[in-house]
Amino acid sequence: MISTDLLQALFEISPSGIAIADEQGRYLQVNDSYCRLFGYTRAELIGQTFGLILSDTEKVLEPMILNLALSQDQGAPTEWKVRHKDGRTLFVHSAFQTFINADGSAQILTILSDVTALVCTLNAVQDHEAQLIKTNESLEQMVFRRTLQLEQANEELARLATQDSLTGILNRRAFEYESNKAIYSADRHHRPISFLFLDIDHFKAINDNYGHAVGDHVLQTLASTIQASLRTSDLLARWGGEEFVICLPDTLLSDAIVVGEKILAACRRLKIKHQQTSIAITISGGLVEREFNCALQETLQQADVLLYQAKKAGRDCLLWPTDKQLNSALIFSETTA
Ligand code: GH3
Ligand code: MG
Ligand code: MG
Repeated sequence: MISTDLLQALFEISPSGIAIADEQGRYLQVNDSYCRLFGYTRAELIGQTFGLILSDTEKVLEPMILNLALSQDQGAPTEWKVRHKDGRTLFVHSAFQTFINADGSAQILTILSDVTALVCTLNAVQDHEAQLIKTNESLEQMVFRRTLQLEQANEELARLATQDSLTGILNRRAFEYESNKAIYSADRHHRPISFLFLDIDHFKAINDNYGHAVGDHVLQTLASTIQASLRTSDLLARWGGEEFVICLPDTLLSDAIVVGEKILAACRRLKIKHQQTSIAITISGGLVEREFNCALQETLQQADVLLYQAKKAGRDCLLWPTDKQLNSALIFSETTA
């Protein structure tokens, strides 16, 4: 057993605030630490209820806290928001114990520890954490947006690097790159591959008669008309000016002739509207099936020679070699228009 003197000393020197209250919650005894904690003198506290130290928002809880204190034998530490005499908010951990006197009345022993500094630090840490999470989220969003912008810019760059800006079809460089891949594949699998060179007839006259902008429109319309006559595996490019070039993978000369004729016929049908008139256009073409081991440049040159011959032959026609001797005396075959 601890002696009464010892208990009294414990009460006096304890760094925790200790109070004994009656069953109405009125202070009967308080130690120095309790007085220091709340800034009241002992005389100011004795006889008051503990509602005095509750913050405005917690005051309504006074009856509930009293009940809790009376019903708990061994009080578990609970955190309370309380108020110093000068109005400051404090946080305390509390433990209650109720004693029943011989006359049946009850007394409540309360021990309070000041945890204000701890709670404030914890709150600050939590606030920092929340702020960090928010900053991190907005950083992630920014990185995501930037990555997306970069991807879009890269796609746009890739598109600009491979597309003809006027017609949207492949440009010359991209055509050469893709055609060389197609040639490599054709050689590997021993498949035929054909090339078609096309040039608009008397295009200069269209520019001269209707203006450059109309000429541009004709080029765009023609590009989409030709594209519509091709398979997705075929490659169409603007070679330059009013010249177009087509790579037909997996296509024999006989099949390429059918494709070329289809394109020429589609161009003949094309009537491009301009003000009150409609502009008719025709094209000429040179067509070759690539010979095994023949370089792209050489193959296109053969097609270009045939195109030149088609112009000389009167335009609006497609020429292809009738035998395999392309270099010397070429025998051309003009298609039936
Ligand atoms: P041919 O039947 O012999 O091919 O005659 P052509 O008039 O079509 O050929 P020529 O080479 O004499 O003229 C081609 C014209 O194409 C001249 C040039 O100003 C025009 N041209 C080239 N590029 C463009 C372009 O991007 N837009 C427009 N509107 N015209 C262009
Ligand atoms: Mg021309
Ligand atoms: Mg030309």
